[in-house]
Amino acid sequence: MTSTTTTTTTTVYGYPRQGPDRELKKAVEGYWQGRVTADQLRLTAAGLRRAAWRQLVGDGVREVPTGDFSYYDHVLDTSVMVGAVPARHRAAVAADPLDGYFAMARGTRDVAPLEMTKWFDTNYHYLVPELGPDTVFSADSRKQVGELAEALSLGLTARPVLVGPVTFLLLAKPAADAPTDFVPLTLLDRLLPVYAEVLADLRAAGAEWVQLDEPALVQDRTPAELNAAARAYRDLGALADRPKLLVASYFDRLGEALPVLAKAPVEGLALDFTGPAAANLADLAAVGGLPGKRLVAGVVDGRNVWINDLERSLATLATLLGLAGRVDVAASCSLLHVPLDAAAEREVDPQVARWLAFARQKSEEVATLARGLAEGPGAVTARLAANRAALASRTASALTRDPAVRARTAAVTEEDARRAQPYIERAAAQRAQLRLPLLPTTTIGSFPQTTELRSARADLRAGRIDAAAYEGRIEAEVREVVAFQEKAGLDVLVHGEPERNDMVQYFAERLDGYLATRHGWVQSYGTRYVRPPVLAGDVSRPAPMTVRWTAYAQSLTSRPVKGMLTGPVTMLAWSFVRDDQPLAETARQVALALRDEVGDLEAAGTSVVQVDEPALRETLPLRAAGRAEYLAWATEAFRLATSGVRPDTQIHTHMCYAEFGDVIGAIDELDADVISLEAARSHMQVARELAGHGYPREAGPGVYDIHSPRVPGPEEAAELLRTGLAAIPADRLWVNPDCGLKTRTWPETRAALENLVAAARTVRAEL
Ligand code: GLN
Ligand code: ZN
Repeated sequence: MTSTTTTTTTTVYGYPRQGPDRELKKAVEGYWQGRVTADQLRLTAAGLRRAAWRQLVGDGVREVPTGDFSYYDHVLDTSVMVGAVPARHRAAVAADPLDGYFAMARGTRDVAPLEMTKWFDTNYHYLVPELGPDTVFSADSRKQVGELAEALSLGLTARPVLVGPVTFLLLAKPAADAPTDFVPLTLLDRLLPVYAEVLADLRAAGAEWVQLDEPALVQDRTPAELNAAARAYRDLGALADRPKLLVASYFDRLGEALPVLAKAPVEGLALDFTGPAAANLADLAAVGGLPGKRLVAGVVDGRNVWINDLERSLATLATLLGLAGRVDVAASCSLLHVPLDAAAEREVDPQVARWLAFARQKSEEVATLARGLAEGPGAVTARLAANRAALASRTASALTRDPAVRARTAAVTEEDARRAQPYIERAAAQRAQLRLPLLPTTTIGSFPQTTELRSARADLRAGRIDAAAYEGRIEAEVREVVAFQEKAGLDVLVHGEPERNDMVQYFAERLDGYLATRHGWVQSYGTRYVRPPVLAGDVSRPAPMTVRWTAYAQSLTSRPVKGMLTGPVTMLAWSFVRDDQPLAETARQVALALRDEVGDLEAAGTSVVQVDEPALRETLPLRAAGRAEYLAWATEAFRLATSGVRPDTQIHTHMCYAEFGDVIGAIDELDADVISLEAARSHMQVARELAGHGYPREAGPGVYDIHSPRVPGPEEAAELLRTGLAAIPADRLWVNPDCGLKTRTWPETRAALENLVAAARTVRAEL
């Protein structure tokens, strides 16, 4: 009948790897434990890839990605592809490539793994390539070629996806034996021939197009870095024997890198048009578009869980049609960052479920948009109407519009987010109230999460024990934790957080407006998957969330017990957030709910309350331009949560996983009375940074690295304290571990805390 006249196609850059029932996780962990053979693992993986491609095609994606699959991490795969294997792993990789690969990922008894860090501002973690001046690259295209061959043999249109050379180098760090000022990007000329070889291999294997991902170019880049990008794509573009090149970026606008890539001799660009990256539209027009080239338009948000506004996306696509030789439709980034299938969430209220789009639903949206673009909106009328109705129901829902919550956030004043007294006066009141020694000792909150605790929770969920029995077990644990802390001689105690499965999920389950999923797993790193809660509606607190446990712990001791809450920014950072209102508004709602909790803790006799914000640094916008605004609302939300208390109630906060340099000013803006920070590995670096900033309040740079099974002796901790004292005066220095103890064992915890108290006593005696 009607034949389409345009060449618009549909694609995505990557897909969830784990399979519908986390089969990959089970197979990989089974392999580690010796229950699954290497061949079985390979077979399972090939089956999952096949099933994923078939699913994509069934849902309407016509050009499937290959090579995005990974046993552990695609950046690690890239290190292997270019031969960037650190010296300490070479023997293992030579002996057995698969075991060597996992050794790089996880380490062995004798060798440390590669470092792991966050993939841009997502909650996915990649393994950081280690490079030095004598790194010798060599091409190993087997994985890429093999996976392409698999897809082609199924008769699919397939496009290999690789981490691009510039991003690979920009994400790398100098190897331990490299000079500290070594800049990995200086290896570009050595790396490009290796990429050329891989591209030639892929071409020979039948690739028409290859995608090179360059998300590092959406960050602020120096002219030298932009020049490197220009050189890289000039050289790769000039190769004789190569597939067509599609250079992809996502997570933000390309900015200054856009003219560089637009001019490069490559056949296509893939750009993100969602969120802050929507600015790409005007930027693209400003550079005159991509005449004669392929533009892959990422109009479906690939990293959040909400349905697309299809009419708006169609309008964007129509504008883009005039700006490129050909426009294809895609999700904005790999679908790795979202769960697989919203249709599996049968327990979510159907009224809400219709607002959700996971990987499968996003594929379908991409397909609908391509059809609407190619054949005109008339071809998808029914689908557009259903989409419009779903969006309207979201806007009109009592879940997303709770008048009481809205009235409350609208009434927030400047004073609500300020403690009534300046720090100096509060500190005096708190000293009188708490009567702590100099160098007071405390912990960050959690104590070991033992198998008994986990099985108690599993028993409760399975109905094997009732709520009363479960609470009895938690109380017993709290008694043990409090008794231990008293005996060890800690000054400010905690209840140990035994009732918490996770510091965000625990609160999400107790706040209205939050939604839990049953199958919403996303990869955090390797075989670790998380199910982030979904901030779906206006947030309020139907009942106190923590008071029972903190009050119980306080009833057992005369020493102060610190209440323990997760801060508003972290509650947002580790959840899927609303996209229908500014993040600042959602943060404010969460902050007000927490403010009520802080007030209830205070009323129940708690004189110290800690509000954790470990994620403050990691949600910092990728580009400097957005940072001031973010930090303004983020710190305001913290203050709103914590400013309703009396002057003699001491507010603590805690942060970890970060280089704090960028956020020292923001830490000051929190106006917390005490902050504890990760510092043991960096020899108290953050103490010097705080001092350099003139930080006026109390701080506890960590003296125990909780990520390591090694227990520091009392003298080592004392030495760190003396280093801390060189930056922070004795009447403002606290003594604590780097972070919570939930991943440690009891024997380690006991020894480490006893040593920490001993160190504090030694150094106090020297004052
Ligand atoms: N209070 C939390 C704990 O101790 C803090 C965890 C964190 O900072 N990630 O577990
Ligand atoms: Zn921490």
